[in-house]
Amino acid sequence: MTRYVVAPPAPASLAIADSAARLPVHRIYCIGRNYAEHAREMGAPVERGTPMFFMKPAGALVADAGAGVVVPYPPATNELHHEVEMIVALAGGGRDIARGAALECVYGYGVGLDLTRRDLQAAAKAKGQPWDAAKGFDASAPASVLMPVARGGHPHAAALTLSVNGELRQHGNTADMLFDVAAIIHELSRLWTLAAGDLIYTGTPAGVGPLARGDRLSASLEGIASLAVDIA
Ligand code: MN
Repeated sequence: MTRYVVAPPAPASLAIADSAARLPVHRIYCIGRNYAEHAREMGAPVERGTPMFFMKPAGALVADAGAGVVVPYPPATNELHHEVEMIVALAGGGRDIARGAALECVYGYGVGLDLTRRDLQAAAKAKGQPWDAAKGFDASAPASVLMPVARGGHPHAAALTLSVNGELRQHGNTADMLFDVAAIIHELSRLWTLAAGDLIYTGTPAGVGPLARGDRLSASLEGIASLAVDIA
């Protein structure tokens, strides 16, 4: 038995609908600018050729157990933004996965927030620096309970919505993604070896905006999952 010099951290994991078992989380991949209207609102080009990926640490997850989660307003920002996104959870992986085989890797789907320190992201973009501080901070990845494909199917054309304090802020549809789930898995697997337990945040539709302490968020992926988030 391996002896460690300090206690190893508990693995990040997500709850599964109507199951006592959980999905252990390996990596969190994110795709940027995957909805044309969001790319436009960020003043970025609509790119259909090459997807833009970044990552969050697995420890940034805030996993819902079904009753909602609390996220502390993060330090070092005055501009915390919401980005509601469909989450893909993998049960298998590999390298150079063909588009036609990609969906076989999917365990299930959920909904989450790619929380963003927009001021730090703007500063990083201006200096050509990486996005880690803007995207990968503590508690930056709230995530719902997962719905297995076996029960919920693949949400190829599902409404993706976010309300803040009862007001609808984001309303998109997964059918409008520039890179669909199979394309994202294919492209990711050309760059990294995908594995069971990987999560993919699949990009946000238009309507991103600032959050404040005390805000109550309600995210939904039609027919699959919902998530309540309190900003503390
Ligand atoms: Mn995003």
